[in-house]
Amino acid sequence: MSLKISQNVNLAEYTSWLVGGNADHFCLPETLEDLKEAITFAKANNFAITILGGGTNVLVSDEGIAGLTICLRRLSKIATFEKDGKLHIEALTGTAKSELLKTFLKQKLAPALFLAGLPGDVGGGVVMNAGVAEAFVPREFMDFVDWIEVMTLDLEIIRLQKNQLNIKYRHTDGWQPHIIVNVGMSWPLEIDTTILDRVREANKIRLTKQPLDMPSCGSVFKNPEGHKAAQLIDSTGLKGYRVGDAQVSLKHANFIVNLDKATAKNISDVIAHVQKTVEKEKGVKLTTEVVRLGRWI
Ligand SMILES: Cc1cc2nc3c(=O)[nH]c(=O)nc-3n(C[C@H](O)[C@H](O)[C@H](O)COP(=O)(O)OP(=O)(O)OC[C@H]3O[C@@H](n4cnc5c(N)ncnc54)[C@H](O)[C@@H]3O)c2cc1C
Repeated sequence: MSLKISQNVNLAEYTSWLVGGNADHFCLPETLEDLKEAITFAKANNFAITILGGGTNVLVSDEGIAGLTICLRRLSKIATFEKDGKLHIEALTGTAKSELLKTFLKQKLAPALFLAGLPGDVGGGVVMNAGVAEAFVPREFMDFVDWIEVMTLDLEIIRLQKNQLNIKYRHTDGWQPHIIVNVGMSWPLEIDTTILDRVREANKIRLTKQPLDMPSCGSVFKNPEGHKAAQLIDSTGLKGYRVGDAQVSLKHANFIVNLDKATAKNISDVIAHVQKTVEKEKGVKLTTEVVRLGRWI
């Protein structure tokens, strides 16, 4: 086997919150062949598989993750071609969104603005249907995705067209229980000469509105129908609420920041308190956008 599979690997450094326990088994495939080896290893040992992309929207338990954790961030490659007045892009799942941004920016196309300041990888963008609050076009990741390819547990690659997927607010279904390996995207070649300035401006706005100097996972809660989660949290006076080193950001109420040595349990406790308080005071249930991975009771 050429793929290195390690034991007891701490996952904190693989998440943007910098929290979480150990993966019992862990690997970083660089090719589709590596990924096949990883799946074969997990199946042979009867291990559950957990997928990690950029780790920017997950809360990994302090008790770690059983089975095999496959981190896909090194499965990264991007290719482009032009056809029928469109730029077509194919990117392996671990391609950083920042690479995708550069590709659109080179051609002065609108998705560059949407991608400004959006962390994580392409595969995570599909799973979470990452989106922005601004009225940009596009404003959700799936707006420019045409198809995805998944690897099944039988090591087959299957292409799923966009219309075979169930695309929702901050989530895409219809690809499970497989692993997304490749994403096909396109956008009309309509050049916007102001795009670089607008990307710079969007980055500046993010810096003023979001606590980007502290570990976080971005917005923790989804916006409930007809509400903004940040406003609900702010208006219940929860900015600054803290358990251990996990704190509701003073800058953006929908962010929970790791002040230094927060644990996943600290963050989970803050989440529970925010949910309880907002429901009690505003009568609105907040659900998390963030995905919990690992051993949660
Ligand atoms: C500072 C900051 C700002 C942010 N701003 C935004 C924002 O404006 N809008 C927004 O929507 N989000 C935002 N986020 C959240 C996050 O960046 C996005 O949701 C992003 O798309 C997640 O991608 P990822 O690669 O990090 O996924 P991960 O966090 O690694 O994974 C997310 C989920 O997808 C699954 N997954 C990942 N890749 C695959 C795959 N290839 N196959 C199967 N399953 C997979 C994982 O198992 C997990 O369940 C922000 C986060 C941070 C830290």
